[in-house]
Amino acid sequence: MDNAGIPGKPPETSVPPIDDIPEALRDTPKIKRRRRFKPILLLGGLLGLGAIALLVGIFLPRPTPQSSASTSQPNPTQTSPTPTATPQATIFGHFAYPEAPASELQPISFNGRLKMRKAAAKQFQAMVAAARASGVNIVPISGFRSIDEQKHLFFDTKAQRGQSASERAKVSAPPGYSEHHTGYAVDIGDGNVPATNLSPRFENTAAFKWLVKNAPYYSFEISFPKNNPQGVSYEPWHWRFVGDSHSLETFYKAKNSENTQQSELTNPSPVPTLQFSVPSPSYPVPSP
Ligand SMILES: [Zn+2]
Repeated sequence: MDNAGIPGKPPETSVPPIDDIPEALRDTPKIKRRRRFKPILLLGGLLGLGAIALLVGIFLPRPTPQSSASTSQPNPTQTSPTPTATPQATIFGHFAYPEAPASELQPISFNGRLKMRKAAAKQFQAMVAAARASGVNIVPISGFRSIDEQKHLFFDTKAQRGQSASERAKVSAPPGYSEHHTGYAVDIGDGNVPATNLSPRFENTAAFKWLVKNAPYYSFEISFPKNNPQGVSYEPWHWRFVGDSHSLETFYKAKNSENTQQSELTNPSPVPTLQFSVPSPSYPVPSP
């Protein structure tokens, strides 16, 4: 109680250090305080940074996870659509072709049944006339063909012959995939040797030999030469017109996009051996 009664002296232990060494005490506590504050600040800063990092981590990564989760699926599909779209555009090596509008078609035969697109028909008739002047009898066997007609040719004939779809596709295009849909393709025979119609033996006729030499002058080319990259059987009778921009784009735009994949598809499995097995039974039926 006495000690407690003296108000001024008892805090010697506590007071003097505060008064005697104020600077040191102030420095050390300041330092200590600074040190204490630093961890606090550091902790706070770390917490703050952590919180920011969390927030940033929460908010920023979300678009990337979302892009990897939800939008990444469209991303591969966006990069793959070009590759995946082209395979969808082919069946058994046949390219998809749109059907020419009836208004664009013009007869190439005397009875008017066989038709081609106007530009192709004009050149075909000029080619027939030039061949005739040389004593060669070129006759059209098949021109424009609708998708419905191709359905009949493909499925009915396939069933009649008991062919598999792949076997049938080697000698006939599935509906929607025939060059004849475009109005630019024509099957050509030798009027002097009708027995060779739609047969590989057509290549021995005067008509074929004349075509090889002269068809390019009329912008016609053979669609399925021997060992063609599409794997379609050799068809010396099947020619197509490529004498204007539309016809050229029709046949080569699809091929250019397919070439990269064709190389991948044809390299592992060489097709030529498959081409010689089927052509003989397909005489009466028009070609792809
Ligand atoms: Zn054909």
